Amino acid sequence: MAERVIPLIDQRIAALASAVPTHAIPTTGLLSDALGRPLRDLRISVTDRCNFRCSYCMPKEVFDTDHQYLPHSDLLTFEEITRVARQFVAHGVRKIRLTGGEPLLRKNIEVLIGQLAALRTPDGDALDITLTTNGSLLARKAQALKAAGLQRVTVSLDGLDDAVFRGMNDVDFPVAEVLKGIEAARRAGLGPIKVNMVVKRGTNEHEILPMARHFKGTDVVARFIEYMDVGATNGWRMDEVLPSAEVIELIGSQLPLVQLSRSAAGETAQRWGYADGSGEIGVISSVTQAFCGDCNRARLSTEGRLYLCLFATQGHDLRSLIRGGAGDDQLASAIGHIWQGRSDRYSQLRSSLAPDSTAGAKRVEMSYIGG
Ligand code: SF4
Repeated sequence: MAERVIPLIDQRIAALASAVPTHAIPTTGLLSDALGRPLRDLRISVTDRCNFRCSYCMPKEVFDTDHQYLPHSDLLTFEEITRVARQFVAHGVRKIRLTGGEPLLRKNIEVLIGQLAALRTPDGDALDITLTTNGSLLARKAQALKAAGLQRVTVSLDGLDDAVFRGMNDVDFPVAEVLKGIEAARRAGLGPIKVNMVVKRGTNEHEILPMARHFKGTDVVARFIEYMDVGATNGWRMDEVLPSAEVIELIGSQLPLVQLSRSAAGETAQRWGYADGSGEIGVISSVTQAFCGDCNRARLSTEGRLYLCLFATQGHDLRSLIRGGAGDDQLASAIGHIWQGRSDRYSQLRSSLAPDSTAGAKRVEMSYIGG
């Protein structure tokens, strides 16, 4: 196999300065980007740290023992996160997803969840507060997360076979602990729980059917994610992608499926129900069936950079505004201005083989802005 070349580009250095636009952009809750897509979903990375080394996200040979994490003083405080989130909500955000790295590594995250859960939309509605975790700390934390105001969790689980799972997380972490975490989250009422499995051809596709069977008949939704060319370090190759169409065919050949309609605009997953009514699965097909057309997601990195696409090459620095004395209206205007100029649609470009502006090495790391 050809030697894998890993360009080390510290994405954290490259950031666009954010300016307060000369004309104020009011918060109407109806903000749209240059392609007419509303701002509805904010993903907030609360840490760049993770205790796993999944090869498709944070490969050990790059994020090794010498890897320098961001100093704590660089991270947005909970108060700063809540303040900037409030502006996004005023612009139309209805759902906040906490990510990382591994978000449960951020100390006292329940405090942040409590602050975010207190936010209200311009119509006075509560937000949908969710979190994506590798499940390693979930068994211990599920009750406290629920009590703080978290509504749902999504757990990454790349296999049920213990050896496969330990190989995928590359830190020898046992699958049983994550399954315990999922059970604790169910008992705590953090459902419906979604379980995300990244499928890498030649590595774990034989785990697809066991995963489907394991959660069939429960309220847990297993979702199968196409392996993506995120970031610049995972050595992505197209021949390691198993298209979702093949996943559906494989599962459907044993467990008959019917296609379901999407539950919300901008939803990334295609939903399939078991024909016997015993639950559903999902597939997320960024490589073979791009869904940029109604992508309504913004991403905030742990030190306050706004990214407009999972495959972005640069972020917009909001922290300088936050710590530089900008008022809430100015912050909201800056966010509005950035979103209005958004035309990102990397996956669409990728699949249509149109030349894209990113030369692989410059893409932001998923471990830094969350999936
Ligand atoms: S590639 Fe970018 S624009 Fe397309 S769906 Fe993903 S995050 Fe949205």
